Amino acid sequence: MAPKTYILAIDQGTTSTRAMIFDKAGSVVAVDQVEHEQIFPKAGWVEHDPIEIWENTRKVIGGALAKANLNSKNIAGIGITNQRETAVVWDKSNGQPVYNAIVWQDTRTQKIVDELAGDDGTDKYKAKVGLPLATYFSGPKVKWILDNVDGAREKAEKGELLFGNTDTWVLWNLTGGAENDGVHVTDVTNASRTMLMDLSTLQWDESIAADMGIPMSMLPEIKSSSEVYGEAKPGVLNGTPVAGILGDQQAATFGQACLEKGMAKNTYGTGNFMLLNTGEEQVPSENGLLTTVCYKIGDNAPVYALEGSIAVTGSLVQWVRDNLGLIGSAPEIEKLALSVEDNGGTYFVPAFSGLFAPHWRSDARGALVGMTRYVNKGHIARAVLEATAFQTREVLDAMNADSGVPLTELKVDGGMVVNETLMQFQADLLGVDVVRPKVAETTALGAAYAAGLAVGYWESEQDIIDNWVEDKRWTPQMDEDERERLYRNWKKAVSKTLDWVD
Ligand code: ADP
Repeated sequence: MAPKTYILAIDQGTTSTRAMIFDKAGSVVAVDQVEHEQIFPKAGWVEHDPIEIWENTRKVIGGALAKANLNSKNIAGIGITNQRETAVVWDKSNGQPVYNAIVWQDTRTQKIVDELAGDDGTDKYKAKVGLPLATYFSGPKVKWILDNVDGAREKAEKGELLFGNTDTWVLWNLTGGAENDGVHVTDVTNASRTMLMDLSTLQWDESIAADMGIPMSMLPEIKSSSEVYGEAKPGVLNGTPVAGILGDQQAATFGQACLEKGMAKNTYGTGNFMLLNTGEEQVPSENGLLTTVCYKIGDNAPVYALEGSIAVTGSLVQWVRDNLGLIGSAPEIEKLALSVEDNGGTYFVPAFSGLFAPHWRSDARGALVGMTRYVNKGHIARAVLEATAFQTREVLDAMNADSGVPLTELKVDGGMVVNETLMQFQADLLGVDVVRPKVAETTALGAAYAAGLAVGYWESEQDIIDNWVEDKRWTPQMDEDERERLYRNWKKAVSKTLDWVD
């Protein structure tokens, strides 16, 4: 009898790397997870060690297989999802990174971004790539590495260096690396976050690459999100096809079965990311959102999305844990928040990396405002949780304005959605239902679906829709006047954070 098969998804996230094994119903069979070091060499700089990330990837694949008592013969395909924009540059002859990965939150490229914008402003490339010039995206990070690492530019120009986001880094290593001719490929969703891909042609734009001084030979080949890119080589899952890649937020959108125009999800992780499926149409944003590729399944036409990215949500909870020591673990924030009735008039705007959507203000820095002698740590815990909900309200308003069709409910997922207090406050503040699915691991699931569709493990997108099951729904309970009063105060708080950095 043929062995029973499953799909394995690698989720190379900002704080950890996970491997998850899924069955046909989209249920989790096993998971293994390892955190990696967050390296902060200077204020505003955030790095990861790519070697550590690849070692962790191998570890968690082995760990998940062992927990499920499975081997490579049981795995029909591998999907990859990843923290987007984080840039790795490595030497293709020996697989050694020339510098640490520069993480999406890193703001060191501010000067590069300002110079690129010049007199044209930050929307210089927006019509082509859907993104404003910002430190967030990969292109300027690659330029920084080539400008600042000794000998890197010469090597790059000789064709000796490769660039990739962490999807590409993991894929290249998994399919053989330096010794066995690793596959140097990315998918359209990751490519759409570099500032280097033309959204219409789905190919690299040579003129933007030239503006950033990035040789074309460094760039991976752009493929769809669901097709066989190559096979895993001996060591890990030997011979198994790697058949799906989606950037983490696009993967969550896919895993949430937002497969029709007008459907949206919001992921609450390190940061928050709301994506609205806009079908085959690229909708340019007039309200501070990004236009991005949502997914492309094999030869099908690409599906686009509008995205509202918020840099700091769950990481504010981590900061309260690690830098203030007010709580011992992230979930404790809820108990602390429930020790008081309300926020006591305080608002916490976590503009640690400037403000992303819908403001795109890299000159902003964080602020805790409305403080009085009355305020205690419970109020601060509330302000911390509420910051996530307020920022989401700003993004939802922008999305409604851009799309012209107000959203009627919001599908949610990510590490923070176990927090019931936050979810209720979110529904209250948005005035629409907030809905959580049974499988909250939608990011890994989305990558599994992309791979499973390519290898025929799932037949069609209808399987994804059929597998989606509601777990819990929060309905708005706050009255309109209170909702708008709180939101007005939030906007006032945001205004205090702007123009902080010269
Ligand atoms: P990522 O995939 O971005 O690494 P996750 O989806 O795993 O993130 O979510 C982790 C984030 O969720 C962390 O930033 C953590 O602070 C936050 N978090 C985890 N549990 C809770 C909780 N119960 N309440 C609030 N925040 C939480």
